[in-house]
Amino acid sequence: MNGQEKPTSPRSWLDTPEEELAQALRALGQPAYRLKQVQHWVYRQGVLDFAQMSDLPQELRAALAERFVVAPLRVVRTLASADGWTTKYLLELPGGVSPGRKRPLPPATVETVLMRYDPTDSQRGRWTACLSSQAGCAVGCPFCATGQVGFFRQLTAGEIVGQLLVLNAALRARGERVTNVVLMGQGEPLLNVAAVWQAIERIHDPAGLAIGARHITISTVGIVPAIEELAERQTPVRLAVSLHAPNDELRTQLVPINRRYPLAQLLAACQRFSARTGRRVTFEYALIAGVNDSVALARELVRRIAPIPCHVNLIPVNPTPGSHFQRPAPDQVRAFQAVLHTARIPTTVRVERGIDIFAGCGQLRAEEVSTRQAVAAGR
Ligand code: SF4
Repeated sequence: MNGQEKPTSPRSWLDTPEEELAQALRALGQPAYRLKQVQHWVYRQGVLDFAQMSDLPQELRAALAERFVVAPLRVVRTLASADGWTTKYLLELPGGVSPGRKRPLPPATVETVLMRYDPTDSQRGRWTACLSSQAGCAVGCPFCATGQVGFFRQLTAGEIVGQLLVLNAALRARGERVTNVVLMGQGEPLLNVAAVWQAIERIHDPAGLAIGARHITISTVGIVPAIEELAERQTPVRLAVSLHAPNDELRTQLVPINRRYPLAQLLAACQRFSARTGRRVTFEYALIAGVNDSVALARELVRRIAPIPCHVNLIPVNPTPGSHFQRPAPDQVRAFQAVLHTARIPTTVRVERGIDIFAGCGQLRAEEVSTRQAVAAGR
């Protein structure tokens, strides 16, 4: 094997452009097909350790491990729900030098959730990965644990894809893989568009994770220019918009970025997205007792969204540590849903997942931080 100068610390394989990976392999005296071989292990086999890539020469495995780390995410903690179908991962991102960035990235922690649907049928079962796009979030929705801690930093494309690979590595033992992806974890994906789009292309790429566009969803609070841009992309992913209120006054309280992109603009962008892509938009509506769950507001919602091909997902809020927002009573949820059904707007109430493990956005991280603070304070 030819020599090549070793870097001082291993680089992220996922954040290194393909041309540079090919060049690194060439410098190690490897034939052109090696890159495909390694990518197959990473993306299709869910193997994140060069040492386990059994059809590579031993010497090459060691040389790659000196120069690269496949997915530099460390699992800090996992929590499985009592029913076993939802697992939440708290992941540490070491940061460091990243290609194309002037300054090293600071370390950060993010949450990633793995959810199993249709668990009664192992053939048709789907594994959905809920990925984070930012560490923290600047939008500041008051009902969200992430919104309460503020923005920390953007994630790189490799850190977004890396979350999925950590889940695939966990599923490998059962011979299964993630089948659906939602960018609905920590952060606002459309405020980190370049990295998110690069990650989606890798997730969709037949030579990458090969997940179909209709199995990939971007969930946004409504960054209007980015929604317009999304409608023009070649990869027609699904769009979910967190609405949470049918008028500007209430929505601005719940989703402060509504001041910048008010409802009329947002709904017009959703309508254009649907017309351009032929896809229904999913409207997410977090139901909060006594705040936005009245029948009158349900009727107002119908008036606003009726012209848009859509589906509404009602989400009774998760009890968040430190938040005064409460989950509505089941009767109230049913009454709200009935108004939408009567207007023939397809509406589901989100299957409650992992309430016992703080599955809502940012809640595990918040819980971990408060536990660490309590330990530090000797409580
Ligand atoms: S709900 Fe989403 S957009 Fe709002 S603060 Fe939380 S992570 Fe940010």
